[in-house]
Amino acid sequence: MKNFDVAIAGGGLIGGAMALELAGAGLRVAVFDQGEPGREASWAGAGILSPAPESRAMLSMVPLAKASMALYPEFVARVEEISGESVGFRPKGTLQALFGAKAREELSTLIALQHGLGLRAEPIRAEDARALEPALSEDVEAAALRPDEASLDNRALTQAVFTAARKGGAEIFANCSVNGIRREGGRCTGIKLRDENISAKWTIIAAGCFSASIAGVEAFAPVRPAKGQMLALRADDVKIERVLWSEDVYLVPRNDGRILAGATVEYVGFEKRVTAGAVQKILSAAIELAPGLANAHIEETWAGLRPDSPDHLPILGPANLDGLLIATGHFRSGILLTPITAKLTREWITEQRVSVDWERFSPLRFVETPREAAAKR
Ligand SMILES: Cc1cc2nc3c(=O)[nH]c(=O)nc-3n(C[C@H](O)[C@H](O)[C@H](O)COP(=O)(O)OP(=O)(O)OC[C@H]3O[C@@H](n4cnc5c(N)ncnc54)[C@H](O)[C@@H]3O)c2cc1C
Repeated sequence: MKNFDVAIAGGGLIGGAMALELAGAGLRVAVFDQGEPGREASWAGAGILSPAPESRAMLSMVPLAKASMALYPEFVARVEEISGESVGFRPKGTLQALFGAKAREELSTLIALQHGLGLRAEPIRAEDARALEPALSEDVEAAALRPDEASLDNRALTQAVFTAARKGGAEIFANCSVNGIRREGGRCTGIKLRDENISAKWTIIAAGCFSASIAGVEAFAPVRPAKGQMLALRADDVKIERVLWSEDVYLVPRNDGRILAGATVEYVGFEKRVTAGAVQKILSAAIELAPGLANAHIEETWAGLRPDSPDHLPILGPANLDGLLIATGHFRSGILLTPITAKLTREWITEQRVSVDWERFSPLRFVETPREAAAKR
């Protein structure tokens, strides 16, 4: 039987970054992916790095998101150095545009919320916003600049992370579906593949929105897919420097000149069809925000499945079997949360402590304790 210090189920960006980090700490690590690593949500994402919460539910994630954001420049430098590949990091800030008669009021609320969370945000007048980003519509009434936010090419990052992890000694197995975990008493002792068992001191479940289908971990990783549809546009006469947001769309410029526009959030199971309605909605909001995009060429459309948890927060940390960790449920922020996820799992495995409190994200929050079960009877 193959034997590793750490077996990781799932080769997305999260699994790959943990492999890189743990191999760097001298551990024998293997990643098992059911298909080609890095071709699911981590490939489909937009690559925005923004710790600003997208909803009330995500407020308690802000400290974790800020900690991850702070790690990003160093993370990118390390991945690029080891892999020799560029990941298209753009630490240029993001700009949120507001439309309508209530734009100024909304701006004050937005800035107060950001400042209350310890996030930098500057109110700017519509003319100043257009001076920074000439592609913005004449109808924009006000804007907020978030100078510490960034973006990157998540497809390039995922590929570079796997190159770096391999160079660091991690073994990556494609087309190896993990069917379940192995357990002996109160310990998890590795994973079960279709024809083979793998023995490991530590097992990490990082199979994105598919994690709940791995036998033995369903209760700890009750994730479901949240489909997101996206488009890539190219318009030679539209230049965008920063990520631009409106209430209905975001536009993400890439170093190669493409402008990504997204995204929907749909709960329709495990299907990834691109639909006419979603494309229409994204395009009309994109053109409202940057009218010059009306002449853009549509280069690509796609959809991906975000791993969403019942409370929309990540699921991170030890389960109630020794040797079993869960790292999934990153929902709309998995690219942002990659460096902190890798760091905390490495700390837990090598030092049995973590430098950022992750109790709020414990996989045990979904599991009824015997006392809770008794109280219901
Ligand atoms: C349209 C869209 C836009 C997004 N935009 C952003 C953004 O701007 N910023 C941001 O931070 N996040 C964004 N996200 C979210 C982010 O992409 C995800 O949270 C993140 O990629 C999750 O990474 P992961 O490694 O957990 O999952 P995935 O990338 O889905 O990887 C999981 C892997 O596990 C493998 N797997 C599944 N089941 C098994 C099994 N049984 N055995 C072995 N392997 C298995 C899969 O093949 C896959 O490779 C976006 C997502 C989408 C879809």
